[in-house]
Amino acid sequence: MSILPIYTFDHPVLRQETSQVEEDSAEIAGLIVSMFETMNNARGIGLAANQVGKSLALTVIDVSDFEGFEDQKPLVLINPVILGTHGESVFEEGCLSLPEIREDIVRPEKVGVKFHDASFKEVELEADQILARVIQHEIDHLHGKYFIDYLSPLKLSLLKGRLSRMHRGELEVDYPIAPPYVDVKQKKSRRPRLSRM
Ligand code: ZN
Repeated sequence: MSILPIYTFDHPVLRQETSQVEEDSAEIAGLIVSMFETMNNARGIGLAANQVGKSLALTVIDVSDFEGFEDQKPLVLINPVILGTHGESVFEEGCLSLPEIREDIVRPEKVGVKFHDASFKEVELEADQILARVIQHEIDHLHGKYFIDYLSPLKLSLLKGRLSRMHRGELEVDYPIAPPYVDVKQKKSRRPRLSRM
């Protein structure tokens, strides 16, 4: 049980398709506990496994602070699949991997989803409002997608400065984050080998 560092934009693990979780294990159970602890510490309402550097199709969600969802227990979604969607709504989203950015995003208003819960039992759930929103945001993470991928090129260009600062790890956050990703190949090419023989 521990608070894990959160991986931020634009670490490659956040762009990769995650692997299916094959079976229940002590390792997965431990990861789930740590993910809840990490999410709560960062005051988040959803966290995907690849946001803590584990490329697995697993996400934890807790929307119980939201009006109308006080009785909603924390959810664990393993290998989630969206079965169907309905309607459309606009909501201002933020992301623990993209601190300092909040943008209005259009998504389906309701969603039907199938997944395995923490005890690996198959569950089907219909969600709306904030719960539907988080489920879709987290499932996107599991497919290597950020919420900013929905923004227009113009909106995205306005965020360019902030995104490149983030890429360099120049962030002010009140939760632990992973060190910025350094592309080893790029670094090497910037410092070519001298012709010393
Ligand atoms: Zn996110």
